[in-house]
Amino acid sequence: MGSRPETRVFNFSAGPAVLPEEVLAQASAEMLDWHGSGMSVMEMSHRGKEFIAIAEAAEKDFRELLKIPSNYKVLFLQGGATLQFGMVPMNLLGGKKSADYIYTGEWSKKAIKEANRFCEINIAASSEGKNFSFAPEQSTWQLDPKSAYVHYTSNETIGGVEFHWIPDTGKVPLVADASSHFLSRPLDVSKFGLIYAGAQKNAGPAGLTFVIVRDDLIGKAAKGTPTVMDYKLQADADSMLNTCPTYSIYIAGLVFKWLKGLGGLRKIEEINTAKAKLLYDYLDQSSFFSNPVAKEDRSRMNVPFTLKDSKLDEEFLKGAAKRGMVQLKGHR
Ligand code: PMP
Repeated sequence: MGSRPETRVFNFSAGPAVLPEEVLAQASAEMLDWHGSGMSVMEMSHRGKEFIAIAEAAEKDFRELLKIPSNYKVLFLQGGATLQFGMVPMNLLGGKKSADYIYTGEWSKKAIKEANRFCEINIAASSEGKNFSFAPEQSTWQLDPKSAYVHYTSNETIGGVEFHWIPDTGKVPLVADASSHFLSRPLDVSKFGLIYAGAQKNAGPAGLTFVIVRDDLIGKAAKGTPTVMDYKLQADADSMLNTCPTYSIYIAGLVFKWLKGLGGLRKIEEINTAKAKLLYDYLDQSSFFSNPVAKEDRSRMNVPFTLKDSKLDEEFLKGAAKRGMVQLKGHR
């Protein structure tokens, strides 16, 4: 890390979130003239040779970081993870009538609500009974073999619950909303049918959404699916059916290079594990704070904690802000 400008705060926002300072400095240095092109990346045609080179390098680094097998397509889309809540059923139902969902908190709830516009939902497992404080064990899942796919939220941002294991759903494709822990650790892509994630948590600016999808699952979009929401058509057009979020792709590409330079996803996982341990160890020995999540399912990325006396919240947040720590207030 370079030296930290004094004006930079400790930003705890879950997303859009803090980016590596080296990346911001490089983007700043390249702002007016990218590599002698005489243009900012923001001003380039998405079909010009300069931007095509940026997008190709970003995909190559992304594939390398995640070791993505060659039978998976990588899509750089827009619309956030929220659009994927709808695009997944539109594209993956393939004429089937239902899908399995694992209900573990606020974000899976939203995914379920949106998918229910397109199909019947079988809640195969839920942690609602215990206030969404754990990840339901695979042995408790009641999967329906007739379902088109099984969807789960691999890190529940608001609840701070992370799956530290990958479910086995047999022949039924597994779909993950990995938005809030994407690129925070290695991921065995081959275990999934589809993975999606908004970029703005760990991988870049808002406006860019990653989709990694196995080849055989695309090309079966429901009748009436808009062109830009059809995975196959997007894959055939290298995600450039229309103007793509060029600047977000460029910054994400710089983040991928930064991660590679650091030592890849194993290394960032080590760093994240150590950071999370420091915080949880502190919370656990404190009589002042508490965290409601089952220890084995605690998120390394999102650590919700409350003051045992909520009357002190206001003062705590003020004191934190004075020390340059912002965005600590949790979800309403
Ligand atoms: N899923 C999860 C797990 C999230 O944390 C978020 C954003 N907080 C979303 C989906 C929605 O993402 P977006 O705002 O990019 O649509």
